[in-house]
Amino acid sequence: MASSQREAENSPARLGPLKREESWQRLGADKFDLVVIGGGVVGAGTALDAATRGLRVALVEARDLASGTSSRSSKLFHGGLRYLEQLEFGLVREALRERELMLTTIAPHLVKPVSFLYPLTHRIWERPYTAAGLLMYDTMGGARSVPGQKHLSRAGALRMVPALKRSALIGGIRYYDAQSDDARHTMTVARTAAHYGAVVRTSTQVVGFLREADRVSGVRVRDVEDGRETEIHASAVVNCTGVWTDELQRLSGGRGRFRVRASKGVHIVVPRDRIVSESGMILRTEKSVLFVIPWRNHWIVGTTDTDWNLDLAHPAATKHDIDYLLEHVNTVLATPLTHDDIEGVYAGLRPLLAGESEETSKLSREHAVARVAPGLVAIAGGKYTTYRVMAADAVDAAAVDLPGRPQPSITDKVPLLGADGYHALVNQADQLASEHGLHPYRVRHLLDRYGSMVHEVLALGEGRPELLKPLEHAPDYLGVEVVYAAGHEGALHLEDVLARRTRISIEYAHRGVDCAAQVATLVGEVLGWSKDEEKREVEVYQARVEAERESQSQPSDEAADALRSAAPEARSGIIEPVS
Ligand SMILES: Cc1cc2nc3c(=O)[nH]c(=O)nc-3n(C[C@H](O)[C@H](O)[C@H](O)COP(=O)(O)OP(=O)(O)OC[C@H]3O[C@@H](n4cnc5c(N)ncnc54)[C@H](O)[C@@H]3O)c2cc1C
Repeated sequence: MASSQREAENSPARLGPLKREESWQRLGADKFDLVVIGGGVVGAGTALDAATRGLRVALVEARDLASGTSSRSSKLFHGGLRYLEQLEFGLVREALRERELMLTTIAPHLVKPVSFLYPLTHRIWERPYTAAGLLMYDTMGGARSVPGQKHLSRAGALRMVPALKRSALIGGIRYYDAQSDDARHTMTVARTAAHYGAVVRTSTQVVGFLREADRVSGVRVRDVEDGRETEIHASAVVNCTGVWTDELQRLSGGRGRFRVRASKGVHIVVPRDRIVSESGMILRTEKSVLFVIPWRNHWIVGTTDTDWNLDLAHPAATKHDIDYLLEHVNTVLATPLTHDDIEGVYAGLRPLLAGESEETSKLSREHAVARVAPGLVAIAGGKYTTYRVMAADAVDAAAVDLPGRPQPSITDKVPLLGADGYHALVNQADQLASEHGLHPYRVRHLLDRYGSMVHEVLALGEGRPELLKPLEHAPDYLGVEVVYAAGHEGALHLEDVLARRTRISIEYAHRGVDCAAQVATLVGEVLGWSKDEEKREVEVYQARVEAERESQSQPSDEAADALRSAAPEARSGIIEPVS
């Protein structure tokens, strides 16, 4: 084996089958400073924050990286125009600073500017009122990487968004925010943490807490693939489980300082040509706002906001949710969208703070962090955009339980894997394309998903040119991307690849079913699946899609949940609920 190949095999950021076994051994044998529970963006961010401060960290995720809320958001890095109206300037400034850091330093390959048209509907007061807000939005938090607001007459706005009804607006203002593929971003944060030494392991569920006298001294975990269990010993444990926060709190046996409730948000995905527009849109609704967000060859339309008390792992969208979205977006569209236009639907749960007590160290209106017991910190709430700030707060809160005083957080200076060298590669896209016999457009698409790790991805096609071909029924993706997902990005099941490493499950009307067999064969080669295992993966995935489709025709949450939660789990060893 050439030394460069050996190096790649041993790369700490390579989350493949070999690393998985090695990580299991380390979880049981090493003594950690911090164990982080939950591989959403907050847990992955906390692991990265801690590792780059010089701490020994383990990150354990029960299912897949970003399989909870962090793959189901509106995918915006945004300040939140709504908070400006509520005069929450501090929150907006903090979020806009994060947006700027992502665009420039931390993840320029993954986070991109995106424009929104704000249609004006009232004469006289609305334009100056909105303009004043947007002026702050454009200047707060050092937001220099995106263009400032642009004012448009009705004719100008209609030229930008020809899909709008003439009667839907009297003029408009275009402003900018940023967007990212949330699941890929979270996975890249986790891999970056692994690069800096964190042990990152998925399909590893926390099923108990260890105690020494009155303090939490670690966790008991179960490998949900094969049922093995082991103990992880650590000076402190951080609960980053989003909507599962209360469940883990109960498992720890202690009383929490805050509670988390779940609010469901549903999005639909429609083909790009159904809404003729050069820009996204933000529309006001009675309760909140509705976004129409450009997403590759599609639009994402969302979201709803309703209480959810059912299955936390599989929130189900109902017909009612979908009707709500269609009804609201159709109020402004000249050619209305129908159910037949929908390619994909996804539902996520917002982890909202509820029932806080006074002791809670509430660092912002959006998130809360508390040392709930000696050796145990909980953090929840917040939004995707501010995960880095939350992560730093969580590690600070755990500091009293650590043997030495940790260094201050430095993640504002730590680019994610793939960021380094990205800009140069964009300039070299044509050369890279001709070296690999690909279209430059394809290489740019890959660069926005992998950054400078694109070399690792393309290297998998050396000697196997068939892997550089598009997938038969999902031509936006190449075979090498599937192989890379299983060999480097920690994907363990077909669902991980179709729903999160790629977004085939929401980008194609077949929702991944038509390419399931081809993808399963490619994944199976890397993970060593037998033909029976390959078949089971395809069947489980088909059943998931079927259950989701059926639930989306149900009138109520209860009916939709009953259908969705009856589908088999890819991770059949998961214990739910764990307490
Ligand atoms: C519809 C919607 C739209 C949104 N849009 C935006 C947006 O555009 N911009 C923005 O900034 N924010 C947005 N948000 C908010 C944002 O998505 C969330 O705040 C964020 O993703 C929460 O991340 P998390 O890590 O706290 O939770 P999660 O991503 O849910 O991660 C928690 C993890 O813990 C794991 N876990 C649970 N139990 C265990 C156990 N026993 N052992 C091990 N692991 C366990 C779960 O499997 C899960 O992966 C949106 C949210 C929703 C619902």
